[in-house]
Amino acid sequence: MDLIEESQMTQLTAADLMISADKVAHVQLNNPLEHALLVLVKSGYSAVPVLDTSYKLVGTIGKTIILNQIIGLEHFEGEKLSEIYVHEVINKDIPVLKKEDTLLNGLNKVIDHPFVCVVDTEDYFAGILTRRAILKQMKRDYYQQKA
Ligand code: AMP
Repeated sequence: MDLIEESQMTQLTAADLMISADKVAHVQLNNPLEHALLVLVKSGYSAVPVLDTSYKLVGTIGKTIILNQIIGLEHFEGEKLSEIYVHEVINKDIPVLKKEDTLLNGLNKVIDHPFVCVVDTEDYFAGILTRRAILKQMKRDYYQQKA
């Protein structure tokens, strides 16, 4: 516990280590699933944030949710990709951090999620904090405390 208290995990904020919104692949609520799948496949990510038209965070969407929509009994029903929209299948049950939350808050949230969305005080999307970024910071802390 002492180690955690002395570490940067309680000093640094989500804003310090997040990937800022302008570098994050995202989709919008009114996009058809074919666009979302294209973004996911081209970016190589399994899930990305979903924003509304004013760039407020609404949820996330991932490959599994999309593929579940087009799996038929005998074959993939690819035509559905243009008929179903992101807002119909979006996952809204996601953890969210404020920019000023500490990395320790972030650590608790990335245990079950590879990334957590970060918002500003008015809920506009600010970026994402990844599990990778938190683990790298913990590694830095660990070696600094040993030195
Ligand atoms: P990583 O820690 O780099 O493996 O990223 C974990 C997850 O965070 C990825 O699978 C994506 O869902 C998401 N992610 C990371 N970087 C980005 C980005 N630039 N744009 C959108 N999503 C991202």
